[in-house]
Amino acid sequence: MSGSDHARFAPTTHGFSVFTTPAKPAVVTREPPAGEPRASGPSTATLVYGPREAVLVDALATVAEATVLADWIELHGRTLTTIYITHGHFDHFYGLSVLAERFPEAKAVATPGSVELMRATVDNPKVVAALAARWPGRLPENLVVAAPYDEEVLPVDDMELRIIEQGRTDLDHSTSVHVPALDLVVAGDVVFTQCHLFLGDTTEGSRNTWLEALDRLAALAPAHVVGGHKKTGAPDLPVAIDENRRYIEDFSRLVASDRSDLEIFTIMGEKHPGWVGHQWWLMFNQDTPRAPASQSR
Ligand SMILES: [Zn+2]
Repeated sequence: MSGSDHARFAPTTHGFSVFTTPAKPAVVTREPPAGEPRASGPSTATLVYGPREAVLVDALATVAEATVLADWIELHGRTLTTIYITHGHFDHFYGLSVLAERFPEAKAVATPGSVELMRATVDNPKVVAALAARWPGRLPENLVVAAPYDEEVLPVDDMELRIIEQGRTDLDHSTSVHVPALDLVVAGDVVFTQCHLFLGDTTEGSRNTWLEALDRLAALAPAHVVGGHKKTGAPDLPVAIDENRRYIEDFSRLVASDRSDLEIFTIMGEKHPGWVGHQWWLMFNQDTPRAPASQSR
């Protein structure tokens, strides 16, 4: 959790606060050919609050993460009415069952498209087992999914959270949340703040969709932008939108060139010094082997 976030909630009635978890190292059968050991995260969960109520955006993944997140939510002294999940990746919704025990009144919701993707994960024993094998004993055994939410607006006290459908970024049916009253965007996995983007599951086409999603956020001209993943302590500023645009454009240009994967990996690291999560699989996903450049990219 970034220290500067504390100052924001004590004296104000309306605000937001960002909780950041460290990366979760994973057990893998094959070490990547270069870069940091495989891990998930670091990830964020964001609390948006008015005088009495609060809404949480994203629920993290492990039992430990969700437990500490629940303690932190309680510190804010608001009634948690809703947990909104930005997209269907496990690291954003697996913590729901832990939070449901602590906040039984809070409704967990997501867009219908994201709910389908969550179901596709928890109803597939192979996927559940594969994730459990990467983080043995760390993930909740009771897996729950959010309920489908069709409205564009989620209320919290006298404020509105506006849900923005973003299409595919690092997963289909990605969404972001805009809170006009706070000049805030909670971007989900449309923005990675000082953290290498998960491009390993993209094609040239989906990278273009991702760029359009970034344009949609830039058009809102927010003062604060929270990335779905971020380096602990990094500021929640809109510059992250431009940095992510450049990152995707650089990667697409390199992939279209004759450079080797190792050269691309090295150059991307040099272009983004100090960013966390410099992992091979984020660029070249070992779960979905990369197609030859002449085909999909
Ligand atoms: Zn994510």
